[in-house]
Amino acid sequence: MNAQAFNEDFFTFLTSSPTPFHAVATMAGRFVKHGFHQLQEQEAWTLTEGNSYFVIREDGALIAFSIGSTDYVKKGFRLLGAHSDSPCLQIKPRPDITGQGFHQVGVEVYGGALLNPWFDRALSVAGRVCCRMGDNSLQTLLLDLQRPLLIIPSLAIHFDREANKNHPINAQQHLTPLLSQVAADTFPDFTAILMEQVSRERPAIEATEILGFDMFCYDTQPPCLIGYKDEFINAGRLDNLLSCFVGMRAMLEADGNGNRMFICNNHEETGSTSATGALGSLPLAAFERLIPDVQSRQICLSRSFFISMDNAHGVHPNFTDKSDPSHHILLNHGPVIKMNANQRYATNSISKAFFQLLAKEAGVQTQEFVMRNDMACGSTIGPLIAARLGVRTVDVGAPSLAMHSIRETTGSQDPLLLYQAIRHFLSREHLPGETR
Ligand code: ZN
Repeated sequence: MNAQAFNEDFFTFLTSSPTPFHAVATMAGRFVKHGFHQLQEQEAWTLTEGNSYFVIREDGALIAFSIGSTDYVKKGFRLLGAHSDSPCLQIKPRPDITGQGFHQVGVEVYGGALLNPWFDRALSVAGRVCCRMGDNSLQTLLLDLQRPLLIIPSLAIHFDREANKNHPINAQQHLTPLLSQVAADTFPDFTAILMEQVSRERPAIEATEILGFDMFCYDTQPPCLIGYKDEFINAGRLDNLLSCFVGMRAMLEADGNGNRMFICNNHEETGSTSATGALGSLPLAAFERLIPDVQSRQICLSRSFFISMDNAHGVHPNFTDKSDPSHHILLNHGPVIKMNANQRYATNSISKAFFQLLAKEAGVQTQEFVMRNDMACGSTIGPLIAARLGVRTVDVGAPSLAMHSIRETTGSQDPLLLYQAIRHFLSREHLPGETR
């Protein structure tokens, strides 16, 4: 497989996944196409050896698994994890604001977004709406308006001569996007615009009103290769749709008959505490259904191994003093193993050694990241899943720049390099500690 074909598919995935709900729906579509059976949490599960399944919770979290062997006390699971959400601007429940001849839409900041890059971008809106139907039932629909619709104009430098030196952003005052320029009494409000979109995207559906929505702004500029030799990928939501895409493709294409599971959580960017976050009950609930006997389940989990995937910080050439000098991470130099003495990452010497072994077997180089001692270290789902399931865990990810910007940059070889290591993990005949 070459990087070009892999990246083309990745760009299609990114474009069809402007929100966590769309990312999960896109993955679900691919899993169905490859013979995975969809399970419902509201029903009993009948699971058989040799088959693959997936379950979705509240549109934003997905767990997919393949059962190679039901001899769970001998065969652990090869576990993968990623998160479906990215920092962004979410539309407020009562968003319409009018004044000065403008119609604006109030937003909240979702997660730790870097706010400056959201100015002067052609934004669209996507998410889900909950509609009241003709028979008084409720139906949830995904919507993607696709076209440029919103803009947050910068303040001209003539009004702020210090703008390039000191430019704090007040998220309540300065971030409200413009939607239109019309008299308020003749203009549909934001919910009416969503209703129009429901009729456009789903003409067969007879919704009478929208009673709730989770809608998010996103950048309409498509993903692209950039650099003299197309060395880089520039796109929105690389954190962490890159890992979602790699996890999905590896699940679809792995060889062998090992037990495999991909856990994709929502709400990582806000701390993971939700029904769909990594601190939610879904991963353990899935294992309880898979292996109802407590003793067998515990043995299986103790034989399992979890690779938590989330992007890592590459060294920025303009800000080299922000990286630990002995741990400079380079784009296009392979997956990054992330470590932290205070357990912000779950990696330890043993899980690191296993990932390095896997990567070497797959012919992929690895890098090692630690944060500087004088800066706070980020975290991810690795320690949370490790704590909840009690599984051996390594935190890894593709190197990137501008993490949490509206557009982030990674190496054009990096998605494929991570995939090669991950696919080998899923296909490898034995895990460490697995009975031969
Ligand atoms: Zn992330």
